[in-house]
Amino acid sequence: MKSIRKIIFISLFFYFPFTGNAWGVLGHRIVGQIADGYLTAKTKTAIQKILGFESVAMASNWPDFIKSDPAYKYLSQWHYVNFESGQSYQQMQAFLKADTATDAFTKVNFMVNELKKNKLLPQDMKVLYLRMLIHVIGDLHQPMHLGRPDDRGGNAIKLTWFNNPVNLHQVWDEKLIDFQQLSYTEYAAVINHPSKEQLKTWQKRTFSENIWDTYALTEKVYAETKANDNLDYLYNFKFVAAMNEQLLKGGVHLASVLNDIFK
Ligand SMILES: [Zn+2]
Repeated sequence: MKSIRKIIFISLFFYFPFTGNAWGVLGHRIVGQIADGYLTAKTKTAIQKILGFESVAMASNWPDFIKSDPAYKYLSQWHYVNFESGQSYQQMQAFLKADTATDAFTKVNFMVNELKKNKLLPQDMKVLYLRMLIHVIGDLHQPMHLGRPDDRGGNAIKLTWFNNPVNLHQVWDEKLIDFQQLSYTEYAAVINHPSKEQLKTWQKRTFSENIWDTYALTEKVYAETKANDNLDYLYNFKFVAAMNEQLLKGGVHLASVLNDIFK
């Protein structure tokens, strides 16, 4: 009897999906793998000194893996920054300039500054901040990580994906990416073809301009996805190109940030 109960409990545990919190395992690795290709030799050496044999792609998942450990609970708000719908560029920039809350924007700035201290920063903190930074820059390209506070970035918008219950945040964390059925290295190879103009534009964008750029997609997703929708082939067709561009931009942007830190 006891074991049956245990089985039921375990099945329920796996049946109810976790609240989505980040690009899934694949999304982060794709961003990391793409970034790796745009790092300077100097940056690569500096990163290796911190992470050893752990690649940028593999380091990217650590901040999600440690979420169940209470010792790291304080990091849970570092993955996103919420915005109401209908922000103008000026409103958003003013908000970001004044932002002192514990969120992805302030924490990325904080970690960049910490990592620039180089020898003054203890090795264990370098490892922590570098893994977090690699992860959170990726998150900031997932449109629902800039979502509205009242629906917790789409987590409260319940709908179905091919008739299976999910929420909007999870669709963008995992469902759309998993649907492509590619490994992270295959995925990176498929989408890593920016034009020269795209690369130039993306590489000179500031951090806050990048957030604005992603927010345009956040608004589009909210406008075109409603609670109780059943999303399937059409939704994939509609958004897959935009999602792939976000993953690619995420990689390029991450490399620019890392190259700037370790220059
Ligand atoms: Zn995350």
